[in-house]
Amino acid sequence: MKFKEITVCLDMYGCPNRCKHCWLGITPNGNMEVSEIRSAVNGFKSFAEHVQVYDWYREPDYRDNYKELYRLCNQLSSRPIQHFELVSFWRLVRDTEYVKWLSSIALKSAQLTIFGCEETTDFYIGRKGAYKEILEAIEILINHKISPRIQTFINKNNIDELEHIERLIEFLDLENRCMDFGGHFSFFLHQGSCDGENEKLYDIRVTSDDLPRIPALLKSYTLKHFGKNNIMDVFGRTEQSLYEELSTDHSTSTYVNVSPVFYIDKDFNVYPNITAPSLPWCLGNLKKDGVGTVLDNYIESNSLAQRTRLTVPLCDIVKSKGDKTSKRLFTKDDYITFVLNKYCRY
Ligand code: SF4
Repeated sequence: MKFKEITVCLDMYGCPNRCKHCWLGITPNGNMEVSEIRSAVNGFKSFAEHVQVYDWYREPDYRDNYKELYRLCNQLSSRPIQHFELVSFWRLVRDTEYVKWLSSIALKSAQLTIFGCEETTDFYIGRKGAYKEILEAIEILINHKISPRIQTFINKNNIDELEHIERLIEFLDLENRCMDFGGHFSFFLHQGSCDGENEKLYDIRVTSDDLPRIPALLKSYTLKHFGKNNIMDVFGRTEQSLYEELSTDHSTSTYVNVSPVFYIDKDFNVYPNITAPSLPWCLGNLKKDGVGTVLDNYIESNSLAQRTRLTVPLCDIVKSKGDKTSKRLFTKDDYITFVLNKYCRY
């Protein structure tokens, strides 16, 4: 099979944060050689019409040589790579050159995540001082005409702190200050997918009776961001309702497509970017098994998770691992991934 496009993302250096909501999961930071970017591209090249490469899948621009890495990834990719709206606030407050560089590559908006007041945000990001750094990062971005986009993950234990976030947005006058330089401030909240670290927060996952506690301004920003009319369209449905529907669904499914994205961890294990890179999804090791074997495993759905989804009817997975009484909220796809991950583990 010749792929149309393969995107490879290497977790070269990891991340300075240890977020409680991290869908990628918390794993130790690595220290890959820069030459591994070239090796990865060369390895995948003969299997696809186009190859795109990124030097990160956790924290972008984390290492001091971020400009060199960005340049190299661009050189080696079949077409220019995007610098997404994801930035390193860790670097923003430590490296004065960084924001200038982000401006120079025409970044217009940058995402930052706040969970409530200082103590709660530091707790969720897993690092003392994170909240203060985020506030400083907001000012740095605005001073360089980059609009902050604030994201909040909500659970039962921080939903009442949304009022703090609403007051903060108003106090900092973010909408008007962004408009002054022709930018656009945005905000959105959601519960996140239930995988990686966030799966550990299942017990405090929001239920529909929590949603009226979302302040009006934050709700309207969120609806605008997602282009929805109803907040339930953002949060999905109760587990009970999904269980009811999916426990009669006999379908199976493949995750194979012609333009896959692969995550390569610090030890060169390869995973499709469907959920947290974890053992049930592992396609093999780039160094020990080689690209051909890894891609064969992907195409033939040889990982435990792909194989399970391809061969076990969805109703069996849901009935085995779902909770038919739970009012927790999920989007349908996130719920399927959640029960599949559980099914593969036990
Ligand atoms: S959510 Fe992002 S910043 Fe937080 S630990 Fe995960 S990769 Fe790092």
